[in-house]
Amino acid sequence: MGLTDLRLAFLGTGAAFSPERYNGAVAVNGRLLLDGGAPLLPHMHRCGIDPGAIDAVFLTHFHGDHTLGLPTFVLYRIFVDPRPVTIVGPEGVEARMEALFEVSWGQDWQLAMRHRFNVTYQAAQPSGTAAGYKYDSVKLDHGTSGSNGYRIRIDDRILAYSGDTEATAPLDELVDGADVAIVEATGPGDVFSHMSWEAASDLKARHPKTRFLFNHVYAGTVDGAVADFQVVEV
Ligand SMILES: [Zn+2]
Repeated sequence: MGLTDLRLAFLGTGAAFSPERYNGAVAVNGRLLLDGGAPLLPHMHRCGIDPGAIDAVFLTHFHGDHTLGLPTFVLYRIFVDPRPVTIVGPEGVEARMEALFEVSWGQDWQLAMRHRFNVTYQAAQPSGTAAGYKYDSVKLDHGTSGSNGYRIRIDDRILAYSGDTEATAPLDELVDGADVAIVEATGPGDVFSHMSWEAASDLKARHPKTRFLFNHVYAGTVDGAVADFQVVEV
């Protein structure tokens, strides 16, 4: 165990059209948000997280189940707690997020909200720093546009986060040597553009020193999977 534990709050752990689980988002130490698919504000409240204290949001890709919790979170950061926030994502993150907020709030976004939003957008670098956190990003295989996995350094620990991915070589690169890895495991058998439970188990076996937590589950559960509202200290 390092100097600091990581407190990982799973605000949602489901695949896109899971009938059982909320869409995915993870809060780390109450300061970082990894994707934003869940109903963020009530779920943060339930897990004891202050939405105003999130310093940085890391987006793996722009699919709706990873981003559609953000419009209301952003309103909180405009009208309730205007502390600065950095949003890191794949190339084009600013245009994609601004389009999402404009669709969500209509002309009120530009006329009454945008100028009060204390945001810095950052296109993810291979190695970068966001809100004081050093990270590396790794391009993973998912759909036609891919997905950014992140390795984030928090004090003396490395947290790897995959978002959506197939079980291909870049995923091994992402988790290699990480203390903790939050990785998707959608379901058994053939899970198009995602990772199967069998592949998740093989990945875990190849990296025995890393603590794996599996999310993005469609239905049922598998060894190592986390649940909605679960808080894990590692
Ligand atoms: Zn996706």
